[in-house]
Amino acid sequence: MLRRLHSGFWALGVAFGSCSVPRFYSSRLGSELLRSQAYIGGRWLDADGRAQFPVLDPASGQQLTAVSDCGPQEAREAVRAAYNSLASWKAATSKERSNLLRKWYDLMLKNKDELARLITAENGKPLKESLSEILYAASFLEWFSEEARRVYGDVVPTSSPDRRILILKQPIGVASIITPWNFPSAMLTRKAGAALAVGCTVVVKPAEDTPLSALALAELADQAGIPAGVFNVIPSSKSKTPSVGEVLCTDPLVAAISFTGSTATGKILLRQASDTVKKASMELGGLAPFIVFDSANLDRAVAGALASKFRNTGQTCVCANRFLVQEGIHDSFVEKMVKAMQRDLRVGSGFDELTTQGPLINERAVQKVESHISDAVSLGACIVTGGKRHSSGATFFEPTLLSNVTTDMLCAQEETFGPLAPVIKFQTEEEAVTIANASNVGLAGYFYSSNLAQIWRVAEQLEVGIVGINEGLLSTPEAPFGGVKQSGLGREGSKYGVDDYLEIKYVCFGGL
Ligand code: NAD
Repeated sequence: MLRRLHSGFWALGVAFGSCSVPRFYSSRLGSELLRSQAYIGGRWLDADGRAQFPVLDPASGQQLTAVSDCGPQEAREAVRAAYNSLASWKAATSKERSNLLRKWYDLMLKNKDELARLITAENGKPLKESLSEILYAASFLEWFSEEARRVYGDVVPTSSPDRRILILKQPIGVASIITPWNFPSAMLTRKAGAALAVGCTVVVKPAEDTPLSALALAELADQAGIPAGVFNVIPSSKSKTPSVGEVLCTDPLVAAISFTGSTATGKILLRQASDTVKKASMELGGLAPFIVFDSANLDRAVAGALASKFRNTGQTCVCANRFLVQEGIHDSFVEKMVKAMQRDLRVGSGFDELTTQGPLINERAVQKVESHISDAVSLGACIVTGGKRHSSGATFFEPTLLSNVTTDMLCAQEETFGPLAPVIKFQTEEEAVTIANASNVGLAGYFYSSNLAQIWRVAEQLEVGIVGINEGLLSTPEAPFGGVKQSGLGREGSKYGVDDYLEIKYVCFGGL
């Protein structure tokens, strides 16, 4: 029986079994990018016992397809495959690696529409946003194909006349990569692009909610001619993930672990990686403050707030989580923001062209938004718009704005990761900065002001890794992405993005 799930997507209404062929397809989706097996050592392989786990449509909860469920055994095989290909990959010239990354980039662009539909199918985000993610994801392959040729060392003057000092940068080895569901393509290319550029080989474990995008990228890597074993993907169910993560963090053949996800998971991985002293790169959660000072251009601030808060239905680690608005502009900001939300945001299926707000990723995510709202309301906050699940389905939520929010409420202390904009009123610049910095995480921070002296002061004082001044969308391959405090370690993208995959070697020439 065929059952229609979305415009363009169909699923076979049969019981979930051990078949390795994807069971959803579309006339508009090329079948070669729909992969269901693990990609290890350049081969598509079933997991042991042909184990599979279902991939669900977050909009309906229905099964889209099933993919191989890899456990520790497949993880070890993938690490071994990556290790076996390391010597030849790092011996390739940087130009050879650059050319292959560029081919992979070209193939992403060529297949951008199919890749975008896959993201919308498994993640739920509106198709337009999925397409933006694909272009953003591809831009990291382009960027690192260029950076591959610029991994320079140094020649350093010495105080000994008979010596010379050289500094070499060398690939660290096999890197484990664990990615989240909210940017299933971009978080992968931002890491793998950098690693492959400098000569490392990788094993990728994608999020259990969104393995299809990672497998499609493996297919394109294969088509681009990336050699067998250099790029490996092992999908894994939620129940097998901890044991796979343990292999990826402890196997002696792995040299580095790069993770994007929650701070809680990051801490588990750091602990596991410590025994074998692996290099760790962590992109973790945030609690982004979005400050609007009295001097701000109000319309720009509202436009920036809308973009920053509601992209990916509020499910990005750099989404504004707390709006701090100065008392002189507070009421007008709230009024304009609510009008803009009601006018510009439309909840519905990601495949509907008019949709700007897709579903949240799963029921747990919806419950978190609900718990933040009920906690805030019980402590005195007011629901100005939204506040409940949307009629489109159980995982859809109304874009919500709360006023009268105070710093003791959960929504001001924890990442909501959903379409909730809580507004806190403040009086002085010092008070705003103190509230903004009163957190153990610090990824992104935004503020709107027309006062030049204030702009410098606040930009320097915010305890975050990324600052947006009069700008709500910041991510780009040229700039370093990463946080301070418990938001992470290291930077991704930019010229610094390769550092996590490099060792520095000091070479001393003596007796000259
Ligand atoms: P998560 O930590 O639950 O999952 C992220 C990844 O870790 C997934 O692949 C998951 O399968 C895996 N994982 C979970 N437990 C594991 C374990 N014990 N061992 C090994 N792997 C494990 O986070 P999430 O819910 O997928 O993502 C949301 C969080 O990620 C938010 O906190 C968000 O801020 C953060 N995030 C950060 C960035 C960034 O660049 N800083 C980007 C996107 C998301």
